[in-house]
Amino acid sequence: MSFTETEERQALRKAVTELGRKYGHEYTLKAARSGGHTTELWNEAGKLGYLGVNVPEEFGGGGGGIGDLAAVCEELGATGTGLLQMVVSPAICATIMARFGTDDQKQRWLPGFADGSVRMAFAITEPDAGSNAHKLTTTARRDGEGWILNGRKVYISCMDESQAVLVVGRTEDAKTGKLKPALFIVPTDAPGLEFQRIEMDVVSPDYQFSVFIDDVRLPADALVGSEDAALMQLFAGLNPERIMASAFAIGMGRFALDKAVEYAKTRTVWKEPIGAHQAVAHPLAQAKIELELAKLMTQKAAALYDAGDDMAAGEAANMAKFAAGEAVVKAVDAAVQTHGGNGLASEYGLGALVAASRLTRIAPVSREMILNFVAQFSLGLPKSY
Ligand SMILES: Cc1cc2nc3c(=O)[nH]c(=O)nc-3n(C[C@H](O)[C@H](O)[C@H](O)COP(=O)(O)OP(=O)(O)OC[C@H]3O[C@@H](n4cnc5c(N)ncnc54)[C@H](O)[C@@H]3O)c2cc1C
Repeated sequence: MSFTETEERQALRKAVTELGRKYGHEYTLKAARSGGHTTELWNEAGKLGYLGVNVPEEFGGGGGGIGDLAAVCEELGATGTGLLQMVVSPAICATIMARFGTDDQKQRWLPGFADGSVRMAFAITEPDAGSNAHKLTTTARRDGEGWILNGRKVYISCMDESQAVLVVGRTEDAKTGKLKPALFIVPTDAPGLEFQRIEMDVVSPDYQFSVFIDDVRLPADALVGSEDAALMQLFAGLNPERIMASAFAIGMGRFALDKAVEYAKTRTVWKEPIGAHQAVAHPLAQAKIELELAKLMTQKAAALYDAGDDMAAGEAANMAKFAAGEAVVKAVDAAVQTHGGNGLASEYGLGALVAASRLTRIAPVSREMILNFVAQFSLGLPKSY
């Protein structure tokens, strides 16, 4: 067991930091506040290969693992330029495609994931099935060789920036009862598919959408993987998502903490800079500890996942996501407090992180559902719901 990342991973972190600094938090904030996107950053990160580090080499990717992708996600976040869609497109969609796609599907999609030119949203949440995926009602009916898909999804990130969306539904044969998911690639311009932006109070250049799926005709090869592999295939994508959500949160927390530390070293209202007061220093020290602990768990989850231990990775990914969500909320709060009134001034950009950091306690899986998972599976306690 090693607690030092490989030289390659460290070099990757350094290179990504340079890219993030080139754009900076101002760039992301400006895009978010003007209703724009951070497409230039996405494209450049893609061209440099950072968004495809986990895609197999034979398809033009870096041949690394989810640990490498998480490092990219974290370092961009730490420069204030986090890319939310990294949590979905390369982490869930590319992973599921690489593990369960047919040869044709791999040839069709993976090179685009490797250089970031393909962006794919991911849609599992429904209005009546958020935390309880067993209540999903999006259903695919056979239509000759192909399928006809109907359903409704909510809070689907980045639909407007994506060429396709990976939709989690059921087949008509498995329409009720425990979820037996079937995954479909749906082009975002498919007839019958519409999406509408949900206004959010999160300052972010990545937007959320309601998705309406009405009699969308799909070819046979829209189905990824098998109809029968059920939850295993889905979780092959959801565990990387949790690892990436942790990395995203840790990056954001590091960014806020760095700003706060810099401010605490220079802002002087008495004799010494405010960082000399323990009331200011201790919350920052605590944030540092909690972010480091969350990072360690994220690295463990990624290492287990990359070693092929899906079961152990699942438990660790849940714990990492929980820890990272709690840590980033505290780090951002401490950073705002350290800045006093400036903490909520637009110029400092920290107020913008308050709702964004809060998000990681809700999505992609809420802290309560993680506590349920740990109580039930790690501790063997009875299930209450
Ligand atoms: C900004 C943003 C981006 C998102 N992006 C995507 C995306 O790209 N794709 C996608 O599919 N989804 C996405 N989501 C949806 C997200 O995954 C869900 O919001 C989340 O899973 C919670 O589901 P819900 O909102 O329906 O809450 P609900 O399931 O209604 O839960 C509400 C509250 O009740 C609690 N609760 C529910 N059941 C239990 C229980 N048994 N025990 C204890 N507490 C319980 C929950 O923890 C939560 O606090 C996004 C959400 C947001 C806010």
